[in-house]
Amino acid sequence: MSLIVQKYGGTSVADTRRIKAVAERVASIAKNGNQVIVVVSAMAGETDKFEGFAKDITETPDEREMDLLLSSGERITSALTAMALQETGCPSMSFTGRQVGIRTDSSHTKALIEDIEASRLKTALNEGKVPVVAGFQGINELSDVTTLGRGGSDTTAVAIAAALKADVCEIYTDVEGVFTADPRIVPDARKMDRVSYDEMLEMASLGAKVLHGRSVEFAKKYNVPLVVRSSFNERPGTLVTKEDGAMEKVVITGITHDRNQTRITLMRVPDRPGIAAVIFEAVAKANINVDMIVQNISSDDHATDMSFTVSKKDEKKAFDITKKISEELGSKGVSINSDVAKVSIVGVGMQSHFGVAAQMFETLSRAGINIMMISTSEIKISCVVDVSQMEDAVKALHDSFNLAKV
Ligand code: ASP
Ligand code: MG
Repeated sequence: MSLIVQKYGGTSVADTRRIKAVAERVASIAKNGNQVIVVVSAMAGETDKFEGFAKDITETPDEREMDLLLSSGERITSALTAMALQETGCPSMSFTGRQVGIRTDSSHTKALIEDIEASRLKTALNEGKVPVVAGFQGINELSDVTTLGRGGSDTTAVAIAAALKADVCEIYTDVEGVFTADPRIVPDARKMDRVSYDEMLEMASLGAKVLHGRSVEFAKKYNVPLVVRSSFNERPGTLVTKEDGAMEKVVITGITHDRNQTRITLMRVPDRPGIAAVIFEAVAKANINVDMIVQNISSDDHATDMSFTVSKKDEKKAFDITKKISEELGSKGVSINSDVAKVSIVGVGMQSHFGVAAQMFETLSRAGINIMMISTSEIKISCVVDVSQMEDAVKALHDSFNLAKV
């Protein structure tokens, strides 16, 4: 008997017809003698709709209230899914995050799971029921509802799988798995059979939207086998798992892109110790994540240009802060460019191959694409390019590293 955690995303539970189809699928797996825990997202579009309601009322909704509001989408789906399961003859019971003891910190709208006290889940399983858990939510020490950040139901599922030592955590979505690039940009992108936790972590943070980044961290930390697959067919999907020897033979695993980038440049700031610290401390204090940083060498005027990227939602705040600092430092001013995008290549294999960076730059240059910024880690290389050239860059790289279907 296996213990399987299955998470169904918004499009898989978009309406009552699909919820019934999910229930059929779950019931047949349970009937085959498995224990199943289901985690559900809100029905497609619901969370956006609730955000819209809040925006109609205020530009700056209180985050505690926002969490209670947003958490309700998942509750609706969990109750409907439990009913649909019962209707198939499969005993089932719905639970909120609070009821299954998902404790988080207090950072409303982006809370981190601290602990899961899963006794009610265990009891339900022992009674032969399929628990259906509302994803994306927990409670803090005051018992106030928190949410885990957009896309956070994946993390609920993996955290439950880790807490109960499930045999597998399956993430059901509307795509067949993890692809070598976004198939909407590269039509002959290939679905991967396997990908390592580290590669998947990079890809999630580099803009591949298929999994919530934190869910992959959990899966890696607790060694939970994670499968991404479609709820609309029976195909096996992509297994996210520990790295193995075969993975290293492939130089590059996938290409990602991220349009959600803005570049900010401080022009001619004094080139002396402590300047970068002043700038980035101020930005960090405003809870803004800085991604890439590039500092040019200084010329005769002992001043330098300093550029960094932030996500689009933070661009205004980051610009205002940087402008203020620029005035204090007597620099030449601040420029902002929202028309940039990040294109990245990812692969554990690049650690054991030479010339990967060179091949990336050469490929972009042959395609006439100017690179504005570069950053690297052990298993990824990212370039910032003009957003109008992003798709061409993804296509050219996919081609150059031979990732297409065979
Ligand atoms: N409903 C939430 C969202 O749309 C959480 C999730 O679906 O994972 O972001
Ligand atoms: Mg999702």
